[in-house]
Amino acid sequence: MGKIETVKKPNPNTLERDTSLSNMNLRQIITLREGEWDKPWTSSEVIKKMLEKEGLPMIKELGRSPLPTEYGDWTYITFGDYTNGQHHEMLVYGDESKGSTGDGEDILTRIHSSCRTNEVYHAINCECRKELHEAMTLVQKEDRGIILYLEQEGRGMGMAGKMAQLDNMFGWTEDGQIEQKRDPETEERIDTDRAYKDAGYPSESRDFTVAGEMLHHIGVKSVRLLTNNPRKIAGVTSAGIEVTPVEIHITPENEIIASDLRSKAKNLGHYIGQEHLVVKGTIVENTIFEKKTEAIL
Ligand SMILES: [Zn+2]
Repeated sequence: MGKIETVKKPNPNTLERDTSLSNMNLRQIITLREGEWDKPWTSSEVIKKMLEKEGLPMIKELGRSPLPTEYGDWTYITFGDYTNGQHHEMLVYGDESKGSTGDGEDILTRIHSSCRTNEVYHAINCECRKELHEAMTLVQKEDRGIILYLEQEGRGMGMAGKMAQLDNMFGWTEDGQIEQKRDPETEERIDTDRAYKDAGYPSESRDFTVAGEMLHHIGVKSVRLLTNNPRKIAGVTSAGIEVTPVEIHITPENEIIASDLRSKAKNLGHYIGQEHLVVKGTIVENTIFEKKTEAIL
């Protein structure tokens, strides 16, 4: 056992500050909050531009601690996001203060967006939890790497948007089962992308420049990014960090997820090879648990 640091540092969050809300009346606060719930990306974009104009950062480190997990020992760092008041998290494998990222070059990295429905409730329409743990396993094997966990629920549409998407995508049958809805004309499954569009939302509202700033904050210079999403690559590159995309292999559990993959490739420009978009075996109608297919996420 090595020596463990026990000296307490002053907690910046307990320092005195002006907590008065005298410059805002209650109506303004309610309007601001409702705007954040309905279309969280709208005010974020405005504030981001204001910060950029002043040359100010989007984020502030809120604190860090060691975090022992099933996937090894990490440095757990949280950041406040000035653009939307949310917080984001970063797991750096090993003791970051002792230089566990080495020279900051070529770091295996995954940018993950929060997905409460799958991560907490194990909903079966996506594989976010599996992807997160697969990435943590890969980093652990390599003994070096970073996981970014961004609080951008529902592709950045927020919980209100996610509710509208799920309600457009699923419905109850007469005998009390949940089924994925289908287009009445084409009989095609209503995938996530279509469900958002039908609810009046864009396909994607996440902003990954915050990920670039978080990596820059700890001195990362180049990454091997576990992704096929061009927006993630652009976000990290915007912070002056070099990106080499790396494919992550997972096997979707059902046809809902496979149909979402096809939609991501078609509508969002994700790099997913044709061979990974074809469902193997016979599709059984009226059941959401269908044949497995292989894919790259
Ligand atoms: Zn998910």
